[in-house]
Amino acid sequence: MRNRKIKIKKGDTVLLLAGKDKGKKGKVLEVLTDKVAAIVERMNVAKRHQRPSQNFPGGIIDKALPIPVSKLMLVCPRCGEPARVSSKEVEGKRLRGCVRCGEVVDKV
Ligand SMILES: [Zn+2]
Repeated sequence: MRNRKIKIKKGDTVLLLAGKDKGKKGKVLEVLTDKVAAIVERMNVAKRHQRPSQNFPGGIIDKALPIPVSKLMLVCPRCGEPARVSSKEVEGKRLRGCVRCGEVVDKV
């Protein structure tokens, strides 16, 4: 059963609601549907010791760890405020809209 809706998409700007990066905004790099989590640019970064490999000389790398989507809030591209998202159907497509200013976040 996978009917938990993820309202965040790749490329969105989101606000982090919890954790050490609380209050920061960042861009979604990847949405992990099966984990109901997202990887956000420069958020929840952990230092990882990486072994040398063919493509990488080894050392410490910054790795962004997934953040549960429940800790993220979409930031409206128009009003720049964290927005509750409404969902409406236009011409058969499901579009997300900002509750605050009414802007449709998704472009058709
Ligand atoms: Zn808005």
